[in-house]
Amino acid sequence: MLDTLAENPGHTDAQAGELAVALLMRSETGLIALDDDRRVVLSNPAARQLLGLVDPVEGQTLAASLQRRSSLAADAVAAAAQWLEGRLVDTLFLPLDAESKLSVVPSSGPGGHRLLALKRTNRAAAPINRRDPLTGLADRAWFMERLTALMAAPGGSPALFVLDLNRFKAVNDGLGRSKGDALLQLVAKRLTSAVRDADVICRLSGDEFAIVMNRPGDPETVGRRLVGLLSRAYLIEGTTVPIGVSVGVALAPEHGKDAGALIRAAEIALYAAKNGGRGDARVFDAELDATSRRRASIAEAVRRAIPLNQFRLIFQPQMVLENGGLAGFEAFLRWEHPELGTMCPSAFLTIAEESGMVWTIGEWVLRHACEQANTWPMHLCVSVNISARQLTDQHRLARMIKTVLLQTGLAPSRLEIEVPESALTQQPEALTILKAIHAMGVRVSLDDFGTGSSSLNDLRQFPLHRLKIDQSFVQALGQSEETTNVVRAIAALGRTLGIETIAEGVETLDQQHRVEQDGCTAIQGHVLSRPVPANEVADIIARLLASVDGDMPVA
Ligand code: C2E
Ligand code: MG
Ligand code: MG
Repeated sequence: MLDTLAENPGHTDAQAGELAVALLMRSETGLIALDDDRRVVLSNPAARQLLGLVDPVEGQTLAASLQRRSSLAADAVAAAAQWLEGRLVDTLFLPLDAESKLSVVPSSGPGGHRLLALKRTNRAAAPINRRDPLTGLADRAWFMERLTALMAAPGGSPALFVLDLNRFKAVNDGLGRSKGDALLQLVAKRLTSAVRDADVICRLSGDEFAIVMNRPGDPETVGRRLVGLLSRAYLIEGTTVPIGVSVGVALAPEHGKDAGALIRAAEIALYAAKNGGRGDARVFDAELDATSRRRASIAEAVRRAIPLNQFRLIFQPQMVLENGGLAGFEAFLRWEHPELGTMCPSAFLTIAEESGMVWTIGEWVLRHACEQANTWPMHLCVSVNISARQLTDQHRLARMIKTVLLQTGLAPSRLEIEVPESALTQQPEALTILKAIHAMGVRVSLDDFGTGSSSLNDLRQFPLHRLKIDQSFVQALGQSEETTNVVRAIAALGRTLGIETIAEGVETLDQQHRVEQDGCTAIQGHVLSRPVPANEVADIIARLLASVDGDMPVA
Protein backbone atom coordinates (compact mmCIF):
# COMPACT_ATOMS: atom_id res chain seq x y z
CA MET A 1 0.00 0.00 0.00
CA LEU A 2 2.91 2.32 0.69
CA ASP A 3 3.95 1.66 -2.87
CA THR A 4 0.68 2.91 -4.26
CA LEU A 5 0.74 6.01 -2.10
CA ALA A 6 4.32 6.84 -2.93
CA GLU A 7 3.65 6.51 -6.60
CA ASN A 8 0.71 8.89 -6.39
CA PRO A 9 2.13 12.30 -7.30
CA GLY A 10 -0.60 14.08 -5.23
CA HIS A 11 0.95 12.95 -1.92
CA THR A 12 4.23 13.60 -0.23
CA ASP A 13 6.18 10.79 1.38
CA ALA A 14 5.31 12.16 4.80
CA GLN A 15 1.59 12.18 4.07
CA ALA A 16 1.84 8.69 2.66
CA GLY A 17 3.62 7.56 5.83
CA GLU A 18 0.91 9.09 8.06
CA LEU A 19 -1.84 7.50 6.06
CA ALA A 20 -0.10 4.15 6.18
CA VAL A 21 0.18 4.32 9.96
CA ALA A 22 -3.50 5.29 10.23
CA LEU A 23 -4.47 2.31 8.12
CA LEU A 24 -2.19 0.08 10.15
CA MET A 25 -3.73 1.27 13.41
CA ARG A 26 -7.30 0.77 12.22
CA SER A 27 -6.86 -2.42 10.31
CA GLU A 28 -8.78 -5.42 11.57
CA THR A 29 -6.01 -7.59 10.31
CA GLY A 30 -3.24 -8.02 12.83
CA LEU A 31 0.07 -6.91 11.39
CA ILE A 32 3.51 -7.46 12.84
CA ALA A 33 6.88 -6.56 11.40
CA LEU A 34 9.93 -8.41 12.69
CA ASP A 35 13.58 -7.63 12.19
CA ASP A 36 16.36 -10.11 11.52
CA ASP A 37 16.66 -10.91 15.22
CA ARG A 38 12.97 -11.66 15.37
CA ARG A 39 12.31 -8.52 17.38
CA VAL A 40 9.04 -6.79 16.89
CA VAL A 41 9.63 -3.56 15.02
CA LEU A 42 6.00 -2.62 14.62
CA SER A 43 2.67 -4.15 15.57
CA ASN A 44 -0.83 -2.82 15.26
CA PRO A 45 -3.57 -3.00 17.95
CA ALA A 46 -5.41 -5.77 16.08
CA ALA A 47 -2.32 -8.01 16.27
CA ARG A 48 -1.92 -7.36 19.98
CA GLN A 49 -5.57 -8.09 20.57
CA LEU A 50 -5.54 -11.29 18.57
CA LEU A 51 -2.47 -12.53 20.40
CA GLY A 52 -3.84 -11.45 23.75
CA LEU A 53 -1.03 -8.98 24.41
CA VAL A 54 -1.74 -5.98 26.61
CA ASP A 55 1.47 -3.98 26.49
CA PRO A 56 3.32 -2.71 23.44
CA VAL A 57 5.83 -5.34 22.41
CA GLU A 58 8.12 -3.32 20.21
CA GLY A 59 11.79 -4.05 20.81
CA GLN A 60 11.16 -7.50 22.25
CA THR A 61 11.32 -10.79 20.49
CA LEU A 62 7.95 -12.22 19.64
CA ALA A 63 8.75 -15.25 21.76
CA ALA A 64 9.55 -13.15 24.82
CA SER A 65 6.44 -10.99 24.53
CA LEU A 66 4.19 -13.94 23.99
CA GLN A 67 5.64 -15.93 26.83
CA ARG A 68 4.34 -13.37 29.23
CA ARG A 69 0.90 -13.86 27.85
CA SER A 70 -0.11 -17.21 26.81
CA SER A 71 -2.22 -18.80 24.55
CA LEU A 72 -1.02 -18.68 21.04
CA ALA A 73 2.60 -18.28 22.00
CA ALA A 74 4.04 -21.59 21.05
CA ASP A 75 2.36 -21.92 17.69
CA ALA A 76 2.73 -18.34 16.57
CA VAL A 77 6.40 -18.37 17.44
CA ALA A 78 6.82 -21.71 15.73
CA ALA A 79 5.20 -20.28 12.62
CA ALA A 80 7.37 -17.21 12.69
CA ALA A 81 10.49 -19.26 13.36
CA GLN A 82 9.69 -21.62 10.54
CA TRP A 83 9.32 -18.67 8.25
CA LEU A 84 12.50 -17.04 9.47
CA GLU A 85 14.42 -20.20 8.79
CA GLY A 86 13.44 -19.81 5.22
CA ARG A 87 10.94 -22.63 5.07
CA LEU A 88 8.12 -20.42 3.93
CA VAL A 89 4.68 -21.65 4.73
CA ASP A 90 1.66 -20.36 2.94
CA THR A 91 -0.77 -19.87 5.74
CA LEU A 92 -0.75 -21.35 9.17
CA PHE A 93 -4.03 -22.00 10.93
CA LEU A 94 -4.08 -21.92 14.69
CA PRO A 95 -7.34 -22.87 16.43
CA LEU A 96 -8.37 -20.13 18.84
CA ASP A 97 -11.36 -22.00 20.24
CA ALA A 98 -14.05 -24.30 18.87
CA GLU A 99 -15.55 -21.35 17.05
CA SER A 100 -12.68 -19.71 15.27
CA LYS A 101 -9.13 -19.95 14.15
CA LEU A 102 -6.25 -17.59 13.59
CA SER A 103 -4.67 -17.55 10.19
CA VAL A 104 -1.04 -16.43 10.12
CA VAL A 105 0.32 -15.37 6.74
CA PRO A 106 4.06 -14.69 6.70
CA SER A 107 5.71 -12.63 3.98
CA SER A 108 8.84 -10.60 3.24
CA GLY A 109 8.73 -6.85 3.90
CA PRO A 110 10.92 -3.94 2.83
CA GLY A 111 14.42 -3.65 4.22
CA GLY A 112 14.70 -7.35 4.97
CA HIS A 113 11.86 -7.18 7.49
CA ARG A 114 9.45 -10.04 7.90
CA LEU A 115 5.75 -9.43 8.11
CA LEU A 116 3.09 -11.52 9.76
CA ALA A 117 -0.57 -10.91 8.92
CA LEU A 118 -2.96 -12.35 11.51
CA LYS A 119 -6.66 -12.81 11.01
CA ARG A 120 -9.45 -14.44 13.01
CA THR A 121 -11.74 -16.50 10.85
CA ASN A 122 -14.93 -18.15 11.95
CA ARG A 123 -15.20 -21.90 11.94
CA ALA A 124 -16.29 -23.20 8.59
CA ALA A 125 -18.94 -25.92 8.43
CA ALA A 126 -17.65 -29.16 7.01
CA PRO A 127 -17.24 -28.81 3.24
CA ILE A 128 -19.98 -30.57 1.27
CA ASN A 129 -17.76 -33.48 0.33
CA ARG A 130 -16.77 -34.04 3.97
CA ARG A 131 -20.35 -34.50 5.19
CA ASP A 132 -22.37 -37.59 5.93
CA PRO A 133 -24.84 -37.72 3.01
CA LEU A 134 -27.77 -38.91 5.14
CA THR A 135 -27.68 -36.42 8.01
CA GLY A 136 -25.56 -33.58 6.58
CA LEU A 137 -23.36 -33.70 9.68
CA ALA A 138 -19.59 -33.75 9.37
CA ASP A 139 -18.20 -37.14 8.45
CA ARG A 140 -15.85 -39.06 10.70
CA ALA A 141 -12.62 -38.03 8.96
CA TRP A 142 -13.47 -34.33 9.06
CA PHE A 143 -14.51 -34.60 12.68
CA MET A 144 -11.22 -36.31 13.60
CA GLU A 145 -9.30 -33.48 11.93
CA ARG A 146 -11.28 -30.88 13.84
CA LEU A 147 -10.89 -32.75 17.11
CA THR A 148 -7.15 -33.05 16.54
CA ALA A 149 -6.89 -29.30 15.83
CA LEU A 150 -8.88 -28.38 18.92
CA MET A 151 -6.80 -30.66 21.11
CA ALA A 152 -3.58 -29.24 19.66
CA ALA A 153 -4.61 -25.62 20.23
CA PRO A 154 -2.63 -24.03 23.05
CA GLY A 155 -4.66 -24.50 26.19
CA GLY A 156 -7.08 -26.65 24.17
CA SER A 157 -9.14 -28.79 26.54
CA PRO A 158 -12.31 -29.73 24.67
CA ALA A 159 -14.95 -32.19 25.85
CA LEU A 160 -15.94 -35.05 23.58
CA PHE A 161 -19.41 -36.59 23.76
CA VAL A 162 -20.11 -39.88 22.00
CA LEU A 163 -23.81 -40.78 21.72
CA ASP A 164 -25.30 -44.10 20.77
CA LEU A 165 -28.96 -44.80 20.15
CA ASN A 166 -30.34 -47.75 22.10
CA ARG A 167 -32.07 -50.47 20.10
CA PHE A 168 -31.80 -48.60 16.83
CA LYS A 169 -31.49 -51.95 15.08
CA ALA A 170 -34.94 -52.92 16.35
CA VAL A 171 -36.40 -49.73 14.78
CA ASN A 172 -34.60 -50.39 11.52
CA ASP A 173 -35.71 -54.01 11.39
CA GLY A 174 -39.19 -53.42 12.77
CA LEU A 175 -40.24 -50.26 10.92
CA GLY A 176 -38.06 -50.54 7.86
CA ARG A 177 -34.92 -48.85 6.67
CA SER A 178 -36.50 -45.67 5.41
CA LYS A 179 -38.00 -44.92 8.82
CA GLY A 180 -34.66 -45.82 10.37
CA ASP A 181 -32.99 -43.27 8.09
CA ALA A 182 -35.65 -40.68 8.92
CA LEU A 183 -35.00 -41.24 12.59
CA LEU A 184 -31.26 -40.64 12.15
CA GLN A 185 -32.03 -37.41 10.30
CA LEU A 186 -34.32 -36.22 13.09
CA VAL A 187 -31.73 -37.06 15.71
CA ALA A 188 -29.14 -35.05 13.74
CA LYS A 189 -31.55 -32.11 13.51
CA ARG A 190 -32.26 -32.18 17.22
CA LEU A 191 -28.58 -32.29 18.02
CA THR A 192 -27.77 -29.45 15.66
CA SER A 193 -30.43 -27.20 17.08
CA ALA A 194 -29.44 -27.95 20.66
CA VAL A 195 -25.70 -27.29 20.59
CA ARG A 196 -23.91 -24.03 19.91
CA ASP A 197 -22.77 -23.15 16.40
CA ALA A 198 -19.23 -23.53 17.60
CA ASP A 199 -19.67 -27.18 18.56
CA VAL A 200 -18.71 -29.73 15.95
CA ILE A 201 -21.12 -32.63 15.45
CA CYS A 202 -20.60 -35.70 13.37
CA ARG A 203 -22.12 -39.07 12.63
CA LEU A 204 -19.36 -41.42 13.72
CA SER A 205 -20.98 -44.56 12.35
CA GLY A 206 -24.45 -46.16 11.96
CA ASP A 207 -26.32 -44.87 15.00
CA GLU A 208 -23.36 -43.30 16.78
CA PHE A 209 -22.89 -39.53 16.93
CA ALA A 210 -20.15 -37.36 18.41
CA ILE A 211 -19.93 -33.76 19.54
CA VAL A 212 -16.85 -31.82 20.51
CA MET A 213 -17.26 -28.59 22.40
CA ASN A 214 -15.38 -26.27 24.69
CA ARG A 215 -15.34 -27.98 28.03
CA PRO A 216 -18.50 -27.09 29.94
CA GLY A 217 -18.48 -26.62 33.73
CA ASP A 218 -20.21 -29.93 34.39
CA PRO A 219 -19.79 -32.29 31.44
CA GLU A 220 -21.88 -35.07 33.00
CA THR A 221 -24.87 -32.76 33.32
CA VAL A 222 -24.49 -31.73 29.69
CA GLY A 223 -24.37 -35.46 28.81
CA ARG A 224 -27.59 -36.06 30.73
CA ARG A 225 -29.24 -33.12 28.98
CA LEU A 226 -28.32 -34.68 25.66
CA VAL A 227 -29.84 -37.97 26.83
CA GLY A 228 -33.03 -36.18 27.85
CA LEU A 229 -33.21 -34.23 24.61
CA LEU A 230 -32.74 -37.17 22.28
CA SER A 231 -34.89 -39.58 24.28
CA ARG A 232 -38.10 -37.69 23.60
CA ALA A 233 -40.14 -39.75 21.12
CA TYR A 234 -39.96 -38.93 17.40
CA LEU A 235 -42.87 -38.67 15.01
CA ILE A 236 -42.10 -40.37 11.71
CA GLU A 237 -44.80 -40.52 9.03
CA GLY A 238 -47.50 -40.58 11.68
CA THR A 239 -45.77 -43.22 13.82
CA THR A 240 -44.45 -42.33 17.24
CA VAL A 241 -41.01 -43.86 17.58
CA PRO A 242 -39.49 -43.99 21.06
CA ILE A 243 -35.74 -44.34 21.25
CA GLY A 244 -33.23 -44.13 24.06
CA VAL A 245 -29.69 -42.85 23.98
CA SER A 246 -26.54 -43.40 26.02
CA VAL A 247 -23.69 -40.92 26.21
CA GLY A 248 -19.99 -41.35 27.00
CA VAL A 249 -17.87 -38.30 27.76
CA ALA A 250 -14.09 -37.87 27.60
CA LEU A 251 -12.10 -34.74 28.36
CA ALA A 252 -8.89 -33.64 26.70
CA PRO A 253 -6.08 -33.81 27.47
CA GLU A 254 -6.47 -35.92 30.62
CA HIS A 255 -8.45 -38.78 29.04
CA GLY A 256 -6.58 -39.04 25.76
CA LYS A 257 -3.49 -37.54 24.17
CA ASP A 258 -4.80 -37.67 20.62
CA ALA A 259 -8.18 -37.77 18.89
CA GLY A 260 -8.15 -41.58 18.58
CA ALA A 261 -7.37 -42.08 22.26
CA LEU A 262 -10.03 -39.55 23.27
CA ILE A 263 -12.68 -41.33 21.19
CA ARG A 264 -11.67 -44.67 22.72
CA ALA A 265 -12.02 -43.18 26.20
CA ALA A 266 -15.45 -41.75 25.36
CA GLU A 267 -16.51 -45.13 23.98
CA ILE A 268 -15.41 -46.91 27.16
CA ALA A 269 -17.53 -44.42 29.12
CA LEU A 270 -20.37 -45.01 26.65
CA TYR A 271 -20.14 -48.74 27.20
CA ALA A 272 -20.37 -48.19 30.96
CA ALA A 273 -23.34 -45.88 30.46
CA LYS A 274 -25.12 -48.54 28.43
CA ASN A 275 -24.42 -51.25 30.96
CA GLY A 276 -25.35 -49.19 33.94
CA GLY A 277 -28.94 -49.21 32.72
CA ARG A 278 -29.71 -47.72 29.37
CA GLY A 279 -30.37 -44.05 28.95
CA ASP A 280 -27.48 -42.73 31.02
CA ALA A 281 -24.43 -40.51 30.61
CA ARG A 282 -20.99 -41.35 32.01
CA VAL A 283 -17.72 -39.47 32.12
CA PHE A 284 -14.58 -41.57 31.59
CA ASP A 285 -12.50 -42.29 34.70
CA ALA A 286 -9.55 -44.43 35.77
CA GLU A 287 -11.75 -47.19 37.16
CA LEU A 288 -13.62 -47.54 33.89
CA ASP A 289 -10.26 -47.72 32.17
CA ALA A 290 -9.12 -50.57 34.45
CA THR A 291 -12.40 -52.48 33.92
CA SER A 292 -12.15 -52.09 30.19
CA ARG A 293 -8.53 -53.32 30.17
CA ARG A 294 -9.57 -56.32 32.28
CA ARG A 295 -12.37 -57.03 29.83
CA ALA A 296 -10.02 -56.76 26.88
CA SER A 297 -7.55 -59.17 28.48
CA ILE A 298 -10.35 -61.69 29.25
CA ALA A 299 -11.59 -61.36 25.66
CA GLU A 300 -8.08 -62.13 24.46
CA ALA A 301 -7.77 -65.13 26.80
CA VAL A 302 -11.22 -66.42 25.70
CA ARG A 303 -9.99 -66.26 22.12
CA ARG A 304 -7.13 -68.59 23.03
CA ALA A 305 -9.19 -70.93 25.23
CA ILE A 306 -10.32 -73.26 22.44
CA PRO A 307 -6.93 -73.75 20.79
CA LEU A 308 -5.44 -74.27 24.25
CA ASN A 309 -8.15 -76.83 25.06
CA GLN A 310 -9.26 -75.03 28.21
CA PHE A 311 -13.03 -75.48 27.82
CA ARG A 312 -14.93 -78.37 29.40
CA LEU A 313 -18.56 -79.36 29.52
CA ILE A 314 -20.27 -80.64 32.64
CA PHE A 315 -23.63 -82.37 32.55
CA GLN A 316 -26.63 -82.30 34.88
CA PRO A 317 -29.43 -84.88 34.76
CA GLN A 318 -33.09 -83.99 34.20
CA MET A 319 -35.82 -86.24 35.59
CA VAL A 320 -39.41 -86.79 34.54
CA LEU A 321 -41.52 -86.58 37.70
CA GLU A 322 -44.30 -88.88 36.60
CA ASN A 323 -42.15 -92.01 36.55
CA GLY A 324 -38.80 -90.88 37.99
CA GLY A 325 -37.20 -91.60 34.61
CA LEU A 326 -34.07 -89.92 33.34
CA ALA A 327 -34.88 -87.64 30.41
CA GLY A 328 -31.43 -86.40 29.53
CA PHE A 329 -28.69 -83.96 30.57
CA GLU A 330 -28.11 -80.26 30.27
CA ALA A 331 -24.59 -79.26 29.25
CA PHE A 332 -22.90 -76.36 31.06
CA LEU A 333 -19.70 -74.75 29.94
CA ARG A 334 -16.66 -74.38 32.18
CA TRP A 335 -13.40 -72.64 31.45
CA GLU A 336 -10.40 -74.16 33.17
CA HIS A 337 -8.03 -71.26 33.27
CA PRO A 338 -4.47 -72.11 34.34
CA GLU A 339 -4.21 -69.11 36.67
CA LEU A 340 -7.75 -68.06 37.45
CA GLY A 341 -9.08 -71.56 38.09
CA THR A 342 -12.41 -72.93 36.87
CA MET A 343 -14.73 -70.19 35.65
CA CYS A 344 -18.52 -70.26 35.18
CA PRO A 345 -20.06 -68.74 32.03
CA SER A 346 -21.22 -65.66 33.93
CA ALA A 347 -17.53 -64.65 34.28
CA PHE A 348 -16.81 -64.55 30.57
CA LEU A 349 -19.86 -65.14 28.41
CA THR A 350 -20.96 -61.49 28.17
CA ILE A 351 -17.44 -60.56 27.10
CA ALA A 352 -17.49 -63.38 24.55
CA GLU A 353 -20.83 -62.07 23.25
CA GLU A 354 -19.47 -58.58 22.79
CA SER A 355 -16.32 -59.71 21.05
CA GLY A 356 -18.26 -61.99 18.70
CA MET A 357 -16.53 -65.06 20.19
CA VAL A 358 -19.89 -66.42 21.26
CA TRP A 359 -20.29 -68.08 17.87
CA THR A 360 -17.05 -70.00 18.03
CA ILE A 361 -17.72 -70.98 21.64
CA GLY A 362 -21.34 -71.90 20.84
CA GLU A 363 -20.24 -74.19 18.08
CA TRP A 364 -17.63 -75.82 20.31
CA VAL A 365 -20.26 -76.43 23.03
CA LEU A 366 -22.79 -77.81 20.57
CA ARG A 367 -20.31 -80.17 18.93
CA HIS A 368 -18.97 -81.54 22.21
CA ALA A 369 -22.45 -81.89 23.71
CA CYS A 370 -23.66 -83.84 20.65
CA GLU A 371 -20.56 -86.04 20.65
CA GLN A 372 -21.15 -86.88 24.33
CA ALA A 373 -24.85 -87.58 23.79
CA ASN A 374 -23.86 -90.06 21.11
CA THR A 375 -22.21 -92.16 23.84
CA TRP A 376 -25.40 -92.29 25.97
CA PRO A 377 -28.41 -94.61 25.65
CA MET A 378 -30.47 -93.68 22.60
CA HIS A 379 -33.46 -92.28 24.48
CA LEU A 380 -31.50 -89.61 26.37
CA CYS A 381 -31.48 -86.01 25.17
CA VAL A 382 -28.86 -83.31 25.56
CA SER A 383 -29.85 -79.70 26.28
CA VAL A 384 -27.54 -76.95 25.06
CA ASN A 385 -27.76 -73.32 26.16
CA ILE A 386 -27.82 -70.68 23.46
CA SER A 387 -26.85 -67.10 24.01
CA ALA A 388 -29.44 -64.45 23.12
CA ARG A 389 -26.86 -62.93 20.77
CA GLN A 390 -27.06 -66.06 18.65
CA LEU A 391 -30.66 -65.21 17.89
CA THR A 392 -29.75 -62.07 16.00
CA ASP A 393 -28.49 -63.65 12.82
CA GLN A 394 -31.24 -65.04 10.61
CA HIS A 395 -29.50 -68.14 9.27
CA ARG A 396 -26.31 -68.66 11.18
CA LEU A 397 -27.65 -70.59 14.19
CA ALA A 398 -29.83 -72.97 12.17
CA ARG A 399 -26.96 -73.57 9.76
CA MET A 400 -24.56 -74.29 12.58
CA ILE A 401 -26.95 -76.75 14.25
CA LYS A 402 -27.58 -78.52 10.96
CA THR A 403 -23.84 -78.88 10.26
CA VAL A 404 -23.02 -80.15 13.74
CA LEU A 405 -25.88 -82.68 13.68
CA LEU A 406 -24.73 -83.95 10.31
CA GLN A 407 -21.11 -84.18 11.39
CA THR A 408 -21.77 -85.87 14.74
CA GLY A 409 -24.66 -88.02 13.48
CA LEU A 410 -26.86 -87.22 16.52
CA ALA A 411 -30.60 -87.56 15.84
CA PRO A 412 -32.15 -84.04 15.85
CA SER A 413 -34.86 -85.21 18.27
CA ARG A 414 -32.15 -85.87 20.88
CA LEU A 415 -31.02 -82.26 20.87
CA GLU A 416 -32.74 -79.49 22.84
CA ILE A 417 -31.80 -75.85 22.45
CA GLU A 418 -32.34 -73.70 25.56
CA VAL A 419 -33.16 -70.11 24.74
CA PRO A 420 -33.39 -67.43 27.45
CA GLU A 421 -36.94 -66.16 27.77
CA SER A 422 -35.76 -62.57 27.45
CA ALA A 423 -34.51 -63.29 23.92
CA LEU A 424 -38.06 -63.85 22.63
CA THR A 425 -39.09 -60.27 23.15
CA GLN A 426 -35.71 -58.61 22.61
CA GLN A 427 -34.64 -60.23 19.37
CA PRO A 428 -36.97 -59.56 16.45
CA GLU A 429 -35.53 -62.45 14.43
CA ALA A 430 -36.05 -65.01 17.21
CA LEU A 431 -39.33 -66.37 15.86
CA THR A 432 -38.00 -67.09 12.36
CA ILE A 433 -34.82 -68.65 13.69
CA LEU A 434 -36.55 -70.88 16.21
CA LYS A 435 -39.09 -72.03 13.63
CA ALA A 436 -36.21 -73.07 11.36
CA ILE A 437 -34.61 -75.01 14.20
CA HIS A 438 -37.90 -76.65 15.11
CA ALA A 439 -38.41 -77.63 11.48
CA MET A 440 -35.19 -79.66 11.68
CA GLY A 441 -36.76 -81.73 14.46
CA VAL A 442 -34.69 -80.11 17.21
CA ARG A 443 -36.50 -79.24 20.46
CA VAL A 444 -36.66 -75.69 21.74
CA SER A 445 -37.13 -74.79 25.41
CA LEU A 446 -37.45 -71.47 27.15
CA ASP A 447 -34.83 -71.07 29.87
CA ASP A 448 -35.19 -68.98 33.04
CA PHE A 449 -38.91 -68.77 32.39
CA GLY A 450 -40.77 -66.26 34.55
CA THR A 451 -37.97 -63.69 34.48
CA GLY A 452 -38.77 -62.26 31.04
CA SER A 453 -41.87 -60.57 29.79
CA SER A 454 -43.16 -62.86 27.09
CA SER A 455 -46.92 -62.87 26.66
CA LEU A 456 -49.26 -65.79 26.12
CA ASN A 457 -49.45 -64.66 22.53
CA ASP A 458 -45.65 -64.89 22.15
CA LEU A 459 -45.68 -68.36 23.65
CA ARG A 460 -48.42 -69.53 21.28
CA GLN A 461 -46.44 -68.40 18.25
CA PHE A 462 -43.16 -69.99 19.22
CA PRO A 463 -42.58 -73.71 18.58
CA LEU A 464 -41.75 -74.67 22.18
CA HIS A 465 -41.06 -78.06 23.70
CA ARG A 466 -40.94 -76.95 27.32
CA LEU A 467 -40.71 -74.10 29.81
CA LYS A 468 -37.86 -74.16 32.31
CA ILE A 469 -39.07 -72.49 35.50
CA ASP A 470 -36.32 -70.22 36.75
CA GLN A 471 -34.53 -71.45 39.85
CA SER A 472 -35.23 -68.22 41.74
CA PHE A 473 -38.91 -69.25 41.96
CA VAL A 474 -38.10 -72.82 42.92
CA GLN A 475 -35.76 -71.76 45.68
CA ALA A 476 -38.26 -69.28 47.11
CA LEU A 477 -40.99 -71.91 47.30
CA GLY A 478 -42.47 -72.19 50.77
CA GLN A 479 -41.24 -68.70 51.59
CA SER A 480 -44.03 -66.79 49.95
CA GLU A 481 -47.51 -67.61 48.73
CA GLU A 482 -46.82 -65.52 45.64
CA THR A 483 -43.99 -67.80 44.48
CA THR A 484 -46.20 -70.85 44.82
CA ASN A 485 -48.81 -69.10 42.72
CA VAL A 486 -46.24 -68.25 40.05
CA VAL A 487 -45.00 -71.84 39.83
CA ARG A 488 -48.59 -73.15 39.68
CA ALA A 489 -49.50 -70.63 37.01
CA ILE A 490 -46.51 -71.62 34.86
CA ALA A 491 -47.32 -75.32 35.24
CA ALA A 492 -50.93 -74.56 34.22
CA LEU A 493 -49.70 -72.53 31.28
CA GLY A 494 -47.58 -75.49 30.17
CA ARG A 495 -50.62 -77.77 30.34
CA THR A 496 -52.68 -75.27 28.32
CA LEU A 497 -49.99 -75.06 25.67
CA GLY A 498 -49.49 -78.82 25.76
CA ILE A 499 -45.81 -78.52 26.67
CA GLU A 500 -43.66 -79.72 29.56
CA THR A 501 -42.61 -77.61 32.53
CA ILE A 502 -39.29 -78.39 34.14
CA ALA A 503 -38.31 -76.82 37.46
CA GLU A 504 -34.61 -76.02 37.59
CA GLY A 505 -32.41 -75.49 40.64
CA VAL A 506 -34.33 -78.01 42.77
CA GLU A 507 -32.04 -78.56 45.73
CA THR A 508 -34.13 -80.38 48.34
CA LEU A 509 -36.67 -83.17 48.45
CA ASP A 510 -39.11 -80.66 49.92
CA GLN A 511 -38.76 -78.45 46.85
CA GLN A 512 -39.09 -81.52 44.63
CA HIS A 513 -42.42 -82.44 46.30
CA ARG A 514 -43.71 -78.91 46.10
CA VAL A 515 -43.01 -78.47 42.38
CA GLU A 516 -44.55 -81.87 41.75
CA GLN A 517 -47.68 -80.84 43.67
CA ASP A 518 -47.77 -77.56 41.81
CA GLY A 519 -47.98 -79.47 38.53
CA CYS A 520 -44.46 -79.34 37.05
CA THR A 521 -43.64 -82.31 34.85
CA ALA A 522 -39.88 -82.58 35.33
CA ILE A 523 -37.03 -81.43 37.57
CA GLN A 524 -33.35 -80.67 37.47
CA GLY A 525 -31.04 -79.60 40.29
CA HIS A 526 -28.67 -80.59 43.05
CA VAL A 527 -31.32 -82.86 44.56
CA LEU A 528 -30.61 -85.25 41.68
CA SER A 529 -26.98 -84.39 41.08
CA ARG A 530 -24.66 -81.48 40.65
CA PRO A 531 -23.40 -81.08 37.09
CA VAL A 532 -20.64 -83.68 36.55
CA PRO A 533 -17.81 -84.14 34.04
CA ALA A 534 -18.49 -86.27 30.98
CA ASN A 535 -16.75 -89.33 32.43
CA GLU A 536 -19.14 -89.42 35.41
CA VAL A 537 -22.30 -89.31 33.35
CA ALA A 538 -22.38 -93.10 32.98
CA ASP A 539 -22.55 -93.52 36.79
CA ILE A 540 -25.52 -91.15 36.98
CA ILE A 541 -27.28 -92.94 34.14
CA ALA A 542 -26.76 -96.25 35.96
CA ARG A 543 -27.99 -94.81 39.27
CA LEU A 544 -31.04 -93.02 37.92
CA LEU A 545 -32.09 -95.76 35.52
CA ALA A 546 -31.78 -98.27 38.36
CA SER A 547 -34.12 -96.18 40.49
CA VAL A 548 -36.92 -96.42 37.93
CA ASP A 549 -38.87 -99.55 38.44
CA GLY A 550 -40.01 -101.14 35.30
CA ASP A 551 -40.62 -98.73 32.46
CA MET A 552 -37.89 -96.88 30.67
CA PRO A 553 -38.32 -93.13 31.13
CA VAL A 554 -39.89 -91.18 28.33
CA ALA A 555 -37.81 -88.27 27.13
P1 C2E B 1 -29.06 -71.96 33.15
O1 C2E B 1 -29.07 -72.60 31.83
O2 C2E B 1 -30.36 -71.50 33.71
O3 C2E B 1 -28.34 -72.97 34.10
C1 C2E B 1 -28.66 -73.20 35.44
C2 C2E B 1 -27.50 -72.82 36.33
O4 C2E B 1 -27.80 -73.22 37.66
C3 C2E B 1 -26.17 -73.50 36.02
O5 C2E B 1 -25.17 -72.58 36.38
C4 C2E B 1 -26.16 -74.69 36.95
O6 C2E B 1 -24.85 -75.15 37.23
C5 C2E B 1 -26.82 -74.11 38.17
N1 C2E B 1 -27.53 -75.11 38.93
C6 C2E B 1 -28.00 -76.33 38.56
N2 C2E B 1 -28.65 -76.94 39.57
C7 C2E B 1 -28.64 -76.09 40.61
C8 C2E B 1 -29.18 -76.12 41.93
O7 C2E B 1 -29.81 -77.07 42.36
N3 C2E B 1 -28.96 -75.03 42.69
C9 C2E B 1 -28.27 -73.95 42.26
N4 C2E B 1 -28.10 -72.94 43.08
N5 C2E B 1 -27.77 -73.86 41.01
C10 C2E B 1 -27.95 -74.91 40.21
P2 C2E B 1 -23.95 -72.27 35.44
O8 C2E B 1 -23.37 -73.51 34.88
O9 C2E B 1 -23.07 -71.32 36.15
O10 C2E B 1 -24.63 -71.52 34.23
C11 C2E B 1 -25.21 -70.28 34.39
C12 C2E B 1 -25.86 -69.82 33.12
O11 C2E B 1 -24.89 -69.65 32.10
C13 C2E B 1 -26.83 -70.84 32.55
O12 C2E B 1 -28.08 -70.70 33.16
C14 C2E B 1 -26.84 -70.50 31.09
O13 C2E B 1 -27.73 -69.46 30.86
C15 C2E B 1 -25.45 -70.03 30.87
N6 C2E B 1 -24.65 -71.10 30.26
C16 C2E B 1 -24.12 -72.22 30.82
N7 C2E B 1 -23.46 -72.94 29.89
C17 C2E B 1 -23.64 -72.31 28.72
C18 C2E B 1 -23.22 -72.57 27.38
O14 C2E B 1 -22.61 -73.58 27.06
N8 C2E B 1 -23.57 -71.67 26.42
C19 C2E B 1 -24.32 -70.57 26.73
N9 C2E B 1 -24.64 -69.73 25.74
N10 C2E B 1 -24.73 -70.30 27.96
C20 C2E B 1 -24.38 -71.16 28.95
MG1 MG C 1 -30.16 -73.66 30.72
MG1 MG D 1 -32.06 -71.41 33.75
